[in-house]
Amino acid sequence: MSSERDLPASTHTRRSIFKFGGGAVAAATFVGLASTPASADPAGPAADAADLTPRHYSLRDPHAGTVRTKRNRRGSEPTVTILPIDNAKFRAGGRFDLRVEVAGVTPIDTKVTIRVAGSKGPAMVLSKEALRPKAAGDEVVIVYPELSYPEPGEYTVEVTVVRKGAKTVRSSVTHEVVGAGDGGAKNVVFFLGDGMGTAAITGARLLSKGMTQGKYRGLLAMDTMDNRGLVGTSGADSIATDSANSMSAYMCGHKSSVNAMGVYESSESAHDRHPKVETMAELVKRTRGMSVGIVSTAEVQDATPAAVFGHTRQRAEYLAIMDQALDPVRRPDVLMGGGLASLLPKSEEGSRRDDDRDLVEEFQAEGYLFASTRSELAKVTEESPDRLLGLFHNRNLNVYLDREQVRDPGVLGDWDDQPTLMEMTSAALRVLEKNDEGFFLMVEAASIDKMEHPLDGPRAVYDTIELDQTLRLVREWAADRDDTLIVVTADHNHAMSIAGTHDVRDGAGRDGNGVYGDAGFPTYVDSDGNGFPDDPNPDVQLFFGWSNHPDHTDDFQHNSTFLDPAVIDDQTGRAVPNPKRDPDAELQLGNLPVTSTTCVHTVEDVSIFASGPGSQRFNAFLDNTEVFHRMVDALGIDATRDR
Ligand SMILES: [Zn+2]
Repeated sequence: MSSERDLPASTHTRRSIFKFGGGAVAAATFVGLASTPASADPAGPAADAADLTPRHYSLRDPHAGTVRTKRNRRGSEPTVTILPIDNAKFRAGGRFDLRVEVAGVTPIDTKVTIRVAGSKGPAMVLSKEALRPKAAGDEVVIVYPELSYPEPGEYTVEVTVVRKGAKTVRSSVTHEVVGAGDGGAKNVVFFLGDGMGTAAITGARLLSKGMTQGKYRGLLAMDTMDNRGLVGTSGADSIATDSANSMSAYMCGHKSSVNAMGVYESSESAHDRHPKVETMAELVKRTRGMSVGIVSTAEVQDATPAAVFGHTRQRAEYLAIMDQALDPVRRPDVLMGGGLASLLPKSEEGSRRDDDRDLVEEFQAEGYLFASTRSELAKVTEESPDRLLGLFHNRNLNVYLDREQVRDPGVLGDWDDQPTLMEMTSAALRVLEKNDEGFFLMVEAASIDKMEHPLDGPRAVYDTIELDQTLRLVREWAADRDDTLIVVTADHNHAMSIAGTHDVRDGAGRDGNGVYGDAGFPTYVDSDGNGFPDDPNPDVQLFFGWSNHPDHTDDFQHNSTFLDPAVIDDQTGRAVPNPKRDPDAELQLGNLPVTSTTCVHTVEDVSIFASGPGSQRFNAFLDNTEVFHRMVDALGIDATRDR
């Protein structure tokens, strides 16, 4: 094992920026088959083998099948991968792991040199000792943990691979580094409508406000935001994203891959050994001591809430995500939603754990008050806690329609006292507003997506209305203060579309579908004026179409009880129509791969809305990574400063 280092080629040093201690260099050379003991790797112990199979959530979850099944093909020439990727954008001082992978070489005969240059020449960026996590096979891997670029500018990371008796290989990436923004906002409230494409928003406006002769009788809170733009949602690996890497882009400013968050996908097989980038929770706590709040109708370990703070290649690693949530460098001060199963010791019914740890007690030991019902939430909020943990279901919260309106005991079971998104968010604000340094609050309406997957338009739309009513509440809270930026967007589009109306009086199935002039207007009624139609199944209801779908049957009427559209046939392994859902209706022939039982996310842009200080920054077409940077700009955070 040997390694040698080039001395800095210039005296242009900025070591004062680094608080890590030790030297920083602009270039380093590595020879041979060196390895670092696994225990030295900050990413933690290595897993035994590749395991990207979702373990901690149900295989019925529509996101369980999002793992890439087609592997990259390797050519005969060596390949060099530099992570973070080319064209990535950083905050000066923002933390990241640099990882260089050289594959297709004989390590013992290979010399790898890494050089970092800024606009003024060699840049002293390579601080700490490099790690060599792999010692076998045909790959050389070099990792520098927790680097940062000292100042704004353009940086190039160049890798040179010299091999005995073979051609030298070079590869480089360019990184853009920006400084602190103008500021103006003390707090940010970030709303994420999961899968909230235009159809969900239009559907919410039609059902909640109604329409007379083509004019809406009112507007959503979203509609009256000061600024609006569009977001492109694709990831580093694919045009089609899932919630993990899309939310990760919003929360880190870096692209990731499907199922990953807070990391760049690397050649590692273990979910916890991929190179990390700093998350929003880590950044605002490290630099300013801000509070962080997370409110979701999903399990709090689900992709969107977890991406606010977490790092993993595999979003289904719920237990590892909970361990990360307890680490004070990123621990949310308010954490509310579902997902109690991942905190309960294995002896308790419904627990997802394989040990006796009680994470509720662990949070309580850190000063959190805990609520597991709506009534308890109201009670603990009165005690003015500094930290709040609220978990109101073992799994995801029920959707608004079932939780608040239908309230079927057979559907709700023991979970018959769940709060609304409005109630959770209101409680979160009361805790977070106590911090003079400000806060970052993420509010997710998760089940828009979770109901679009199984082609349930009305349930998705009711949850969109719930998000909008929560937005109205936050805007009222912020109305008499000028220090809070509010941003509303979605992580990806979805298959749902509104094609017209379905009038049951015109006939069954497709005979009842009215398009163009025959569509007219739906007849939803909101007699109590709460913004949610009394009946999701009126004579004339929205005709939902789906751009992608499995084989299924559809009578185009609301299903009073939720049912999946398709199931897997045990004999063939193919998705077939669920015989219990709309059994006598016409077959809709699927267009998805034959194993898909639900529809999938789509690639089109999503809307973004913003109000408050800094909101003009969102009046544009934005790459999803840019949403992070504009929120950080609005907060005026200088990432080179530790608090
Ligand atoms: Zn989804």
